[in-house]
Amino acid sequence: MKNVKVELGIKSYEILIGENILYEVADFILASNFTNNVLILTDSNVEKFLDKLTAPLVAKQINFNTITIPAGESSKNLREVEKIYTRAIELGLDRKSPIIAFGGGVVGDLAGFVAATYLRGVPFIQVPTTLLAQVDSSVGGKTAVNHELGKNLIGAFYQPKAVFIDVDSLQYLPAREIRSGLGEVIKYGIIKDAEFFRYLEDNAEKIMNRDVETLKHIVKRSCEIKAEVVSADEKESGLRKILNFGHTIGHAFEHVTSYKYRHGEAVSIGMVGAALISWAGGRIIFNDVARLKDLLDKFQLVTTCKGVDMQEFYSAISRDKKVIDGKINWILMRGFGDVEITDKVPESEIKKALKNILV
Ligand code: NAD
Repeated sequence: MKNVKVELGIKSYEILIGENILYEVADFILASNFTNNVLILTDSNVEKFLDKLTAPLVAKQINFNTITIPAGESSKNLREVEKIYTRAIELGLDRKSPIIAFGGGVVGDLAGFVAATYLRGVPFIQVPTTLLAQVDSSVGGKTAVNHELGKNLIGAFYQPKAVFIDVDSLQYLPAREIRSGLGEVIKYGIIKDAEFFRYLEDNAEKIMNRDVETLKHIVKRSCEIKAEVVSADEKESGLRKILNFGHTIGHAFEHVTSYKYRHGEAVSIGMVGAALISWAGGRIIFNDVARLKDLLDKFQLVTTCKGVDMQEFYSAISRDKKVIDGKINWILMRGFGDVEITDKVPESEIKKALKNILV
């Protein structure tokens, strides 16, 4: 088992990574000062292997109830939140009753938002089951639901008490979801760790074949990098912005294609765009862009976008929710493992880059 710590003073917590480790959740609950009244939130795909989490709870006589939401992004809204509050009240959950998120980023974001707000905050435990949730959304404390006018517009920073990552759950995951998670994994190599980027290049086949040891390594290294960044800047006032590498163009891509692409797929094209802007501004050489594109191709990720108008794409970028006072914070490459944050990028350089991804 591998451990990673997120250092946040009294809000610090551990991320446990391994195979068949979900019995640890029961032990953690027993060792904590929680009420013996647990609420599990999961979705209609993940509930098939819910017993991996619940069998040890039954064995240890921990009382739990489960709410299953329909799988997919459309469940991440305030109507679902309201239903969960109602059920929590009916079940008599008190301030020390833990809520467990067992699923991908949708379940994690939704359960986290409920945990942050029900009775002004109850203990929250993340048990992520997609690669994207294991390497990204379950760590760092961002919780949110969507509004009909935009994604993730309502939310809170709320840290979990612990994160339990069982890489075995990835064996059930559709290939497209693995690829989506890999978009975020590659991002960590670019923003912080050139050696990790090289590891991904050298081990692409093993990763695609879901070799367990290799998966454990990439999940651990990704969590370490995210933990380091979040520990330094919990609420994204500075350094944490580097985690948005590839996301400015990625969000615009999601928007102009009406959310047909998975999040990590959109980040993939966004990373190519950000690398091209870095090249247009003379920060990296074209060969670096080609190297990134090669790795994304190895993982069959999206690197170009068909049938979208340049002006429409550019307008979508300018409307990103992270634009503050009209300024876009770009995260640009200075090399592998090295990025800078800047709001000074000429429109001409952005458009030059976009021309290369819009085919
Ligand atoms: P998801 O939760 O919709 O999961 C993807 C699909 O995989 C779903 O159909 C789900 O039912 C299924 N699934 C989950 N685990 C499975 C398993 N082990 N085997 C088989 N099927 C499984 O999507 P996601 O990609 O995990 O997360 C995307 C969400 O995460 C978005 O809402 C995004 O906004 C959010 N997000 C949040 C953060 C954050 O910091 N909070 C960061 C990135 C993304």
